[in-house]
Amino acid sequence: MSNAYFNAHMDPSTDLTAYGWTQELAEAFLPHEKAQPHSLPGRIIAEHRQYYLVQTHAGEGRAQISGRLRYHTQQHPEQRPAVGDWVVLWPTHTARANEVPNYRIQELLPRHSKISRKASGQKTQEQILGTNLDTLFIVTSLNQELNLRRLERYLALAQQSQVQPVVILNKVDLCEDPEAVERTLSAIVGSVPLIKLSALYQSGLSQLSPYLGPGKTLALVGSSGVGKSTLLNALSHAQRQSTGAIREQDARGRHTTVHRQLFLLPEDRGLILDAPGFRELQLWDSQAVQHAFADVHDLISQCRFRNCRHDKEKGCAVQEALSLGLLDKKRWRNYLKLSDEQLYLEQRKARMRDIQSKVRAKRAYKKARTNALYGALKGRQA
Ligand code: GDP
Ligand code: ZN
Repeated sequence: MSNAYFNAHMDPSTDLTAYGWTQELAEAFLPHEKAQPHSLPGRIIAEHRQYYLVQTHAGEGRAQISGRLRYHTQQHPEQRPAVGDWVVLWPTHTARANEVPNYRIQELLPRHSKISRKASGQKTQEQILGTNLDTLFIVTSLNQELNLRRLERYLALAQQSQVQPVVILNKVDLCEDPEAVERTLSAIVGSVPLIKLSALYQSGLSQLSPYLGPGKTLALVGSSGVGKSTLLNALSHAQRQSTGAIREQDARGRHTTVHRQLFLLPEDRGLILDAPGFRELQLWDSQAVQHAFADVHDLISQCRFRNCRHDKEKGCAVQEALSLGLLDKKRWRNYLKLSDEQLYLEQRKARMRDIQSKVRAKRAYKKARTNALYGALKGRQA
């Protein structure tokens, strides 16, 4: 049954598998359709101040969060729809000819990955940059000095976000000894795939094909100047296509100012999520540091004392590894820095939760008091 359903949603105009629609999603959607036959699934391809841009099997549309979902996300901000999410949509009215359809977002379908960062400014708020990503291309370049600390951060981010990281060493054409660079990186990268290529000369790109394909969603991160735009251009060009950016058109065929954040690559290569702000990613989840520094954690577990501060304590496995050169001093310092950052974030998060629960308690109290007063008044009038 779900198979027929799954296929039914491939028609009439847009093949949603190209947008990452899967059997699992079809199954998750089924109960929503049963409850409300007008429902349709869609993927959020851009987020604007006033509305979301969604892709459905009927093409593109605009969507806003339903009142109920908005209320729900006040308590659960992590469930606020974001670019990359699959959602359950209800049409608000029948669109007239040449009109962009409008929808209400009723529900979020399950996500398999989520990349977020600490929102800028004072507020300790999670800002979701993208969801349902499959692969994160971490781009570094072979001519600049490699920023190993940053690479560690990106790897940690990918692991924490449930996204497969792939390290790309760009600009091989400028490097005399790429293997030497590869050796330097291997300790940090571990089992993560490492690919050497030249985005500018479009050589070695075929190594990326395991991560490209219909419905596969990717994102690129890396310092400025490493060649992210060049790589993106190389991937965005179809063989036969000459030049030209991805053209944005509305239903009437006019160019629009709408900036799409999730867009299709040509020749079934998948989708690229290109949201602004990917470059200054900060870690959010404390799990991240643990994952990225599994070796350091192993060492720490071998210290003689459980409360070892890894300073001058006897039997400190960390100090021993440092003195033997088994643990890189910079890596250790970066670990300390990241754990500090994490601790600070955790404390701020805890404080936020505290404030929020106080606000809720106060609201509940006010409401109860109003109800009591109201009840008393009514009683008197009776
Ligand atoms: P971004 O800031 O990461 O988006 O980097 P860009 O894509 O703008 O590239 C920065 C510079 O590096 C540009 O001048 C590119 O032409 C150049 N570049 C990118 N890829 C390569 C490459 O594979 N080889 C060489 N030699 N230059 C490259
Ligand atoms: Zn120790």
